[in-house]
Amino acid sequence: RPARRVRTRIAPSPTGDPHVGTAYIALFNLCFARQHGGDFILRIEDTDQARSTPESEALILESLRWLGLSWAEGPDVGGPHAPYRQSERGDRYRKYAEQLVESGHAFYCFRTSEELDQIREERKAAGLNPGIKGDLELPQAEVSRRLAAGEPHVIRMKVPDEGLCVIEDMLRGTIDIEWSQVDCQILLKSDGMPTYHLANVVDDHEMEISHVIRGEEWISSAPKHKLLYEYFGWELPRFCHMPLLRNEDKTKLSKRKNPVSIRYFERLGILPETLLNFLGRMGWSMPDERERFDLPAMIEHFDIQRVSLGGPVFSVEKLLWLN
Ligand code: GLU
Repeated sequence: RPARRVRTRIAPSPTGDPHVGTAYIALFNLCFARQHGGDFILRIEDTDQARSTPESEALILESLRWLGLSWAEGPDVGGPHAPYRQSERGDRYRKYAEQLVESGHAFYCFRTSEELDQIREERKAAGLNPGIKGDLELPQAEVSRRLAAGEPHVIRMKVPDEGLCVIEDMLRGTIDIEWSQVDCQILLKSDGMPTYHLANVVDDHEMEISHVIRGEEWISSAPKHKLLYEYFGWELPRFCHMPLLRNEDKTKLSKRKNPVSIRYFERLGILPETLLNFLGRMGWSMPDERERFDLPAMIEHFDIQRVSLGGPVFSVEKLLWLN
């Protein structure tokens, strides 16, 4: 199979003030793509309509621009795969979810939240993963009757009950996850909107993303994503789960313990190139270990294999000192 063109993306959900973690992941995606002569794209994952706001999206774009992290395709620049807002991508997700029902890889689920609670309890009592799994499907005739009656439902993916899912991660090597720990994930919600998992996989495929570089909090989602690629018969991208930025006490970087808003640093008078330089040293270093470098130098010398998983500490004092 010929090598794919390198295409990376960030896919932020516009649900708040943009976080340095987003800039961090954007920086590494951009460096990887540019180093390989590929494309870095921006996609807005706004399927959670209750939490997504246009203000937050505008701030994401503004913060990335301030940092000089420019995208080749995205909501405001367009591109061959437009639109880049999931809320504008029409009913493609529903069609894909229904396609999986037809191929026997997903099913309509009519369970009420009480019934689902009971399933969780029973599974827990039996010493099983207390997730949503097991015998949830109804006979075909019953499904048709309920659909015709307009009963509320979701579409869930089928997930094997046993065996191992093997994820190859560019930084972590082989990651084994037991299928028994993976739930029958909802793909399409009762309001007809896709969940993150379905929309993310469909869009990464349609946008020809070759490398999915994202934070390690998404490792547990990777088995579901890999299975969806298999169900659809699509080429799997390479996965790379970056370390999370940490507070000084090594807990996950959080606004309770540290300023995390990109705009906060902008207002503080931090220069964008300083913030980029600082983020570039979170778990990464130049081959010659020099401390000061700009974006073109980072792109030129970038090698994702040099990312170390030690849990980079985002210390505001050090950032101020570097400025
Ligand atoms: N929408 C997800 C987020 O907010 C994207 C995760 C991913 O990169 O797959 O981070």
